[in-house]
Amino acid sequence: MSVLTVKPSFPNHLMVETLIQELQAGHHLAIMLDYDGTLTPIVARPEDAQLDAEGLQTLIDLAIHPQIRLALISGRSVEQLQGFIKSILPQPILLAGLHGGQVWDAQNNQCLAEPDENLVNLKAQFLQDVYDHILTKYGELPQGITFEEKGYSFALHYRLADDAVGQDVHQIFQNAFDLEATIHNAFRVQAGHSVVEIVPKPFNKGAGVRFCVDYWQKTHPETPFFPLFAGDDKTDEVGLKAVLALGGAGIAVNVDPQEMLALSHQERDALWVLQDPAEMQGVLKALVQALSPLS
Ligand SMILES: [Mg+2]
Repeated sequence: MSVLTVKPSFPNHLMVETLIQELQAGHHLAIMLDYDGTLTPIVARPEDAQLDAEGLQTLIDLAIHPQIRLALISGRSVEQLQGFIKSILPQPILLAGLHGGQVWDAQNNQCLAEPDENLVNLKAQFLQDVYDHILTKYGELPQGITFEEKGYSFALHYRLADDAVGQDVHQIFQNAFDLEATIHNAFRVQAGHSVVEIVPKPFNKGAGVRFCVDYWQKTHPETPFFPLFAGDDKTDEVGLKAVLALGGAGIAVNVDPQEMLALSHQERDALWVLQDPAEMQGVLKALVQALSPLS
């Protein structure tokens, strides 16, 4: 495992030591992880973002530890996340999809948060409009452009498209959004790595982080939690902000914290920094190994 690039004086084992110290001080760890780009590398086709067997085993080891609560907080839908980790279900893990707007307790097979059904119809109409605008301009869906259906939202991916075409369809999407007041009122536009999507307005990863911690706190009222959130792109900034506000720790994966403009300088300085999902997996695995003698 390599040392950190941005904070060379703070190697990964100190991250694990800090978490172990929190456990020894009587805290339980509330570990919340983004999925794409944090646990798995960003891939050309979003459906290919599968964790390997070792990564899945690490999730199980964390999920079943009595002093750890585990959640995935992702822009994906809960159904998509279920697909990625179906081989390890049902473990005690929360899946917070759609940036925290849809939350499912895997162990109890219980839906904890679900958006308004009307959003599905609004979203379907907007998806059709964007599709029609693209067809009007190009005659057919350009190569490398894909729509990802997420129930209450959808994403337009252009990682595999020609750069100019990708930027153009992104703009078509934005223009359509700007023109439609009903969509405007219910959703916001969110852009990530070669992807643009609409997200119901109240949904964001900060709300997702607070929802998960509140839920664990309600179900374990006597337990003091130390929350941790890890993420890799713009949509994760509010999650990192939320976890720091709760007195926990934030991990920025493959991103320079100085570019996370939603965060204050003080918040950016407080982040732990990892180079890539492989290093994230390494830290989680090292944590599991350090936990064994404790349990
Ligand atoms: Mg991500």
